[in-house]
Amino acid sequence: MIKENLAAIEEKIKKAAEKSGRKREDILLLGVTKTIDTERIGELMALGVTELGENKVQELCEKYEVIGDRAQWHLLGHIQKNNVKYIIDKVKLIHSADSVRLVKEINSRAEKNGKVQDILIEINIGNEESKSGIKKEETFELLDEIAGFKNIFVKGLMTVAPFVEDPEENRDLFKEMFKLFIDIRAKKRDNVSMEFLSMGMTNDYEVAIEEGANIVRIGTGIFGARNYNK
Ligand SMILES: *Cc1c(COP(=O)(O)O)cnc(C)c1O
Repeated sequence: MIKENLAAIEEKIKKAAEKSGRKREDILLLGVTKTIDTERIGELMALGVTELGENKVQELCEKYEVIGDRAQWHLLGHIQKNNVKYIIDKVKLIHSADSVRLVKEINSRAEKNGKVQDILIEINIGNEESKSGIKKEETFELLDEIAGFKNIFVKGLMTVAPFVEDPEENRDLFKEMFKLFIDIRAKKRDNVSMEFLSMGMTNDYEVAIEEGANIVRIGTGIFGARNYNK
């Protein structure tokens, strides 16, 4: 089913991109592989999707042992400060930077590894109690506080929008994210360049793309419902 699912998603991404004056190539599809075994991940990679998103540090590390740098890894979930050391040499992009303390740790681990780590700032755009990410209003303050960090580069913003029945309900929140993205872009900072707006999941990626997303993170839509008991 992965092949058929992917073909349908590709078509929808293309349509949504065109609706917003862009092309399919302007949008990065991340395959979200949490709970999915490496064999099925291999099937997806064989179809050309090699940028993968994982939620948990440990799960990413386990899969990295098998797949390694044949995939480009994105960390999407909340990270404990003391776990940064396990992923710093493995991840291309950390989507879930949400505090000065965490960014400081990423910066220092990156320095030890001789790299500059690309990160996205996670925004809790729906102000949901249950979600991580900072408030929209706190974004500029956080950027100021991390402005001197030389081994991180802020490449954009990420959000996990509320779970809704009808994706249209999230359109205004996606618009708010895009506006914030543009506002930050207008102000030059040494370690910031707003290239990526990571928003949209299986349920709402088309609306997210229409409103300006250029990274969508899709799991269920590709692999089907997750089985957490496996
Ligand atoms: C699980 C997850 C996704 C993918 O969700 P689906 O609804 O399965 O597409 C995307 N982003 C994050 C942060 C996730 O945790």
